[in-house]
Amino acid sequence: GGSMEIFERLSELVSKRGMDCQVELKEEPHDNTIGMKKSGCHGFCEMGPLVRIEPEGYLYTKVKLEDCEEIVDRTIVAGEHIERLAYKQNGVVYKKQDEIPFYKKQTRLVLEHCGQIDSTSITEYLATGGYYALEKALFDMTGDEIINEITEANLRGRGGGGFPAGRKWAQVKRQNAKQKYVVCNGDEGDPGAFMDRSIMEGDPHRMIEGMIIAGIACGASEGYIYVRAEYPLAVSRLKRAIEQAKEFGLLGENILGSNFSFNIHINRGAGAFVCGEGSALTASIEGKRGMPRVKPPRTVEQGLFDMPTVLNNVETFANVPLIIKNGADWYKSIGTEKSPGTKAFALTGNIENTGLIEIPMGTTLREVIFDIGGGMRNGADFKAVQIGGPSGGCLSEKDLDLPLDFDSLKKAGAMIGSGGLVVMDSNTCMVEVARFFMNFTQNESCGKCVPCREGTKRMLEILERIVEGNGQDGDIELLLELADTISATALCGLGKAAAFPVVSTIKNFREEYEAHIYDKR
Ligand code: SF4
Repeated sequence: GGSMEIFERLSELVSKRGMDCQVELKEEPHDNTIGMKKSGCHGFCEMGPLVRIEPEGYLYTKVKLEDCEEIVDRTIVAGEHIERLAYKQNGVVYKKQDEIPFYKKQTRLVLEHCGQIDSTSITEYLATGGYYALEKALFDMTGDEIINEITEANLRGRGGGGFPAGRKWAQVKRQNAKQKYVVCNGDEGDPGAFMDRSIMEGDPHRMIEGMIIAGIACGASEGYIYVRAEYPLAVSRLKRAIEQAKEFGLLGENILGSNFSFNIHINRGAGAFVCGEGSALTASIEGKRGMPRVKPPRTVEQGLFDMPTVLNNVETFANVPLIIKNGADWYKSIGTEKSPGTKAFALTGNIENTGLIEIPMGTTLREVIFDIGGGMRNGADFKAVQIGGPSGGCLSEKDLDLPLDFDSLKKAGAMIGSGGLVVMDSNTCMVEVARFFMNFTQNESCGKCVPCREGTKRMLEILERIVEGNGQDGDIELLLELADTISATALCGLGKAAAFPVVSTIKNFREEYEAHIYDKR
């Protein structure tokens, strides 16, 4: 059974035992009450479905329908936990969530509530101190003070390049326009990435709160959330959260009795990767074909409906309430000097523990792969890690002690991107990996400019013939030359970064290309 069936079975069993099973927790709990709630994603995908028992913090992993009876018996009657369902790694049994190595080295700030609170309930979010930052921003701070705090905290955009959010907000605030917009990019198109999805589904109020604060700071009264159509649960949770925020006077006209008004609309994208690019995204919201345009003007000057627009992604907005609530100094105490805070990553590939993780910036790849990820699956040897999706690069063993932050990765020829992290073992062919990403990018190229439209096709052809054993002398040089030209001349980020996986695999694993070409492997 899936998580929902397990939830149903558990509530049925709890009620059968004469307990008062409260799913909504509307009434005051009493001794005979068992609260049951559906939470967002816990991040430990590999081990789902998960059941967590509070307040002890036991975490049952891989729960099946037939386990439910025993879980209820042990919890209600004996107060013990079931060892055989506890998480086992290398023969060691972990009972509580906090003890599990997968969670131990993480710092969950943005994902703090995911897997903890009922994301469909605004009262649960409020009970954790939710919307306090909004109140503070609204009544105790000026727009400039908010922007200063975000700038001082050095919050950098979590969606790709790491541009300072405060600088972006200040540029929008400076514009003289009758309307300004706040747009949240929830398009998350990288293969294997699901950080933003998890936040939208597991803690939608946090990013909504961040968007409203951005509105206060820049003088914008309208917000748009652009969500991929492939995320229907995220859309329904966001809709519900928006309704609830309106009911509580936290969104809409005269928020909390002030003279500030802010509305949020949801737009569904149709799954084009290029719509994650700023100008394509705003065009798509306007009902036009999602194609990037030449810049300038930049989004901060003429974005949505040609008006000044703050465009950040889900994770960036989700950081905002934390900074406003706890202050820039607190934020800077986490992570590195140039990349403060944490970053969420989707950890996938040939490792023991796959899932969604959040770590302080500056954590090394080795810690991520071997401590949190539990090492390579089936004892295989580590070979490479692809970071940042199709716009990122492949790093090798020599990079394992590289701290994960915006600048170190860029220097190494990769990027954080939106946070996809695919770990590969020694059985992986790196030319195939390059071909996979080039195939993806080539498919997603919008076709507007020649270097990307034609260049990615040519690169894919060359990669295909190398993989098939028909590579020719000079192919590697040709790939690098095409890569240079495309990066230098493509119109948008998709084209500019299209060749990164190829360049980085040639740089780190050139011998594999040569073996394909010259040994006809
Ligand atoms: Fe379209 Fe590619 Fe040009 Fe971007 S670089 S505008 S995706 S053709």
